[in-house]
This record gives sequence, C-alpha cells and structure tokens, in this order.
Amino acid sequence: MKKTIRDYDLSGKKVMIRCDFNVPMQNGKITDDNRIVASLPTIEYAIQNGAKIILMSHLGRIKTEEDKSKNSLKEVSIRLSELLKKDVIFIPFTRGKELETAISNLKDGDVLLMENTRFEDLDGKKESGNDSELGRYWASLGDIYINDAFGTAHRAHASNVGIASILPNGVGFLIEKELNVMKKAIDDPERPLTVILGGAKVVDKIPVIENLVKIADHILIGGGMAFTFLKAEGYEIGKSLLDSENIEFCKRILGENKDKIILPVDVACGTEMDNDVECRYTSIDDIHPNEMGLDIGEETVQLFWKYIKDSKTIIWNGPVGLFELDKFAKGTRTLCKELKESGAITIIGGGDTASAVINMGYGEYMTHISTGGGASLELLEGKELPGIACINEK
Ligand code: AMP
Repeated sequence: MKKTIRDYDLSGKKVMIRCDFNVPMQNGKITDDNRIVASLPTIEYAIQNGAKIILMSHLGRIKTEEDKSKNSLKEVSIRLSELLKKDVIFIPFTRGKELETAISNLKDGDVLLMENTRFEDLDGKKESGNDSELGRYWASLGDIYINDAFGTAHRAHASNVGIASILPNGVGFLIEKELNVMKKAIDDPERPLTVILGGAKVVDKIPVIENLVKIADHILIGGGMAFTFLKAEGYEIGKSLLDSENIEFCKRILGENKDKIILPVDVACGTEMDNDVECRYTSIDDIHPNEMGLDIGEETVQLFWKYIKDSKTIIWNGPVGLFELDKFAKGTRTLCKELKESGAITIIGGGDTASAVINMGYGEYMTHISTGGGASLELLEGKELPGIACINEK
C-alpha cells in the first residue's frame, strides 16, 4: 500500500502537491474544468489540516516561447480560486526569488500555484527529462510531496519522480482512488470481469489485450479496431479501418481465446466519415466495398448486453463507434446505458471514452472514470507507473 496524504501531519508544513491541471483551453479560456474539480478533495484536505500548499502542474506541451503564453496556468489559478472560495496566489515562474519569497511568506492554509512545470522544457527538457538539478531545486521548496496527478503518472518527470526521490511523499486522494478501483479490478476483480475495448487502432491496444486476456472472463471488441479482427476472421470489411500489420496478431489471439473474445455481429456503415452520409445497418458479412463500419449495430448491442448484465466488474476503454458524429454515436450511447443498468462495478478508462460517457450524461452512474488516458491504459497493460512506483510504501 502506498503512503497517502493522510499519513502525514501537515500542520505548518510546506506541502507540494503535483496536480493534473492539464485542462482543455480555447482562446485562453478553460473549456472543461473537470480536472480542476477532481483535484479539490486533496487540496481541501491540505487546507483543513493547516498546510502551506504549493501546487504544481503541467499544461500542454512547451516547445517554443509562443507556447508559453497559450499554456500559462494563470486561468487555472482563477478557476481554482472560485472553486475553493479562497485566494490562490499565482506565481508566473517555475523557479527564482519571487517564487521562493512567496513560498516563505505562506501562512498555514494558504494556497500557491506556480507556473506550468513544462516551461522548464524550453531549457533542455528539464521537466520531461527528469533533470536531477530541477528535481532537487523543487524539492528544496517543500517539506512533503504529494502526487495527485494520475494523468502523468506513466511518465518519469522532475515534478513527480524527481521530487519524490528526495522528499517524504505520498499519493493524494485522486491517485489513491485510481489505484484502489483500477488495480483492484485487475489484481482481484469481482467476477465475472468483462472488458470492453474500442477505439481506432489495434496496435495501441495490443499490450492491453495481451494482459487482459489472461485476467478477464470476456472481452467485447467494438470500434474501428474490431474490423482488423473481423478481417482476420475472413470477413470483407470494405473501407473500414484496417490495421493490416496486426491481422496476424488478431488471428492468433482469437485462435487462443475463441470463447473469450466477442466480436460485433452487425455494424452501422457509411460511405464517408460524415454526419450527412446515409447510415446503413447491416450484418458483418454484408459490408459493401465502398462502405466503412462506423458503429456497432443493434444486434451487437444486444449480444454485448448478455455479457454485461451478468458481470460484476466492467472495464471499458475505447468508444465502440465514431461517437463524435451523432449518426454513429448510438452504439457508444447504448453501451453507456447498459453499463448504468448492469449494477456492476463500472470503470471507464480515461481519454475519449471518459469524455464520451461524461458528454452523453452518464458520468455520475459509473463507479470510476479514470482521469488519465495513457496512464490508465498502462495500468491495464499491467505496467508499473513511474509516478506511482516512486511513492513510498506504508
Ligand atoms: P483511440 O484513441 O484508439 O481510443 O480511438 C478513439 C477514436 O476512435 C475516437 O475518435 C473514435 O471516433 C474512433 N473510432 C471508434 N470507432 C471507429 C470506427 N468504427 N471507425 C473509425 N473511427 C472510430
């Protein structure tokens, strides 16, 4: 068990919390503040326990000077201050006198946010490259380090691994929940465990399939990746997405897991990826050469329900259709409904699946929606995440 923020007496201590404030921005405004909201329990706990709080996060990628103005955390500090109903001191630097003085002036319960940690990347990728001098410098600013940024836990950066290797440390509530729910579902699931995989490419999901096929009772495959599996089974898939380099992988994994892997039996086809094209529902043995499968069909949804309704745990990673287009969103939407009605522990891998579930209005019905796309995928692959491995055990 990893140490958590609860394992420390925070009173009067300078507590550095690595958050994930990597929010989507448009024209300098935050378009979705879910990640800020998700960070509140840890920050509020630190406030209530009298810590002097130093928040850190990255935002976007910083490759040029111009990227800096687009990716300042200033807007995040304003939104965070509204959510906390409390001043948040924003320091537009990642190091230096102004930051150090502001930190030494903090009173118990004060909250400070420093500028985007990736501003340090302009100077030889110091943050993303886990530069040891930078890790040591940041560690010198605090007494205790708490990692609550699950979204970057699959990366070894100065703001997670670098600081954690020096300061007493623990995870925040967000990472604690990710581990409790996701790791439990993989290591010791309530069974039957059903995994639903979708998304565009087989290649991205190969390590997940290899790992979960050993663990899950059923794997339901939809989305663009299903067509490479169908091709491997000998079906004509028209212009549907095909990952031709991985047909052999699909053949092998299907051969070894005949009863475990469930493929679509019908699909919604269109001639283009466009909302204006005709949407034709057809069996998978009747996809025309000029068509592409863009969603799972109704029979498939019913077939998937047979497994979903009896499951005790369901992990879903990857939309089962081109859900960004309303015409091909039905399969993904119906699956959301099926998960809601399943009564199972429902775990949504981050990224596209999370935004589909939330935007379709089903977020509140899921047991857990992961806050990290890449990180949750790597957990499902059975990998150890550096941002979590660096945290001390109890
Ligand atoms: P991934 O990042 O691999 O999880 O892929 C997510 C993307 O796959 C989303 O943008 C979906 O719209 C897309 N997708 C899902 N199903 C299909 C499909 N049948 N054809 C094309 N794209 C799809």
